Amino acid sequence: MKLLPRFPSAAFLGSGCGCLRAGLKGLRSLLYPPFCTVCALPTEAGAHLCGGCAAEAAQLKWWAPALCRRCSRPFWGAAPLPEVCVECQQWSPAFDCVVAPCRFGGVVREVVHQFKYDGKRHLRHIVCGWMQDGLEDARLRDPPAEVLVPVPLHWWKHRLRGFNQAEVLAAELSGSNGLRMIGALRRVRSTGTQTRLAREERRANVRGAFATRLECERQIQGRHVLLVDDVLTTGATLDACAGALLRGGAASVRALTAARG
Ligand SMILES: [Zn+2]
Ligand SMILES: [Zn+2]
Repeated sequence: MKLLPRFPSAAFLGSGCGCLRAGLKGLRSLLYPPFCTVCALPTEAGAHLCGGCAAEAAQLKWWAPALCRRCSRPFWGAAPLPEVCVECQQWSPAFDCVVAPCRFGGVVREVVHQFKYDGKRHLRHIVCGWMQDGLEDARLRDPPAEVLVPVPLHWWKHRLRGFNQAEVLAAELSGSNGLRMIGALRRVRSTGTQTRLAREERRANVRGAFATRLECERQIQGRHVLLVDDVLTTGATLDACAGALLRGGAASVRALTAARG
């Protein structure tokens, strides 16, 4: 997991640059105080989670004995377990699968909330660490994804929050994996907050809410697209985005989120 912000390493600074090194260290502790972002206990220098919270987050990863191959819904029953959950047997989403390595609870929920709503963008390193594990999932390797597309925010929400969390995550993953990020989607209408809506209502609410940007269509046509968002809840938004990408000419759409609600 990449926890350290991008500051020059001690090796790079060399032993003769003590003042500069001390100055940067001071600046780093000013920007990122050495306290756990979740429980405020002291942490190792440069880490945003203490040992206890990091261990809890690790327990929330790949949290069920088996998952639905399509939507990553956990299966808790006894073997033999189906490949696809009952809901995915009745519903055919436009995406091939969603990989979501963590359960959206406890430390994971707190970190994602602070990243998204409290403007703590440096926590992207923790969230992307979880997503990086998700990229190793066999469902995303065959065939390998060719481009990353973030789920877009409506412009007023973007302005209110100051950034699109999906775009920040996709940019980080793009840099560390050599995959091109393309802002190929736009919201054609606001969908409001979906948190209080039931599954069917969410699907109806986001239907037709996304479209591809004409100027980006050539970059996704015939490509295997990996859609990026922070959290999967019902999959309605990812389904609507995947539908728009397929209509825009993408060869296939899979999705990656840090966590599943
Ligand atoms: Zn902690
Ligand atoms: Zn499923």
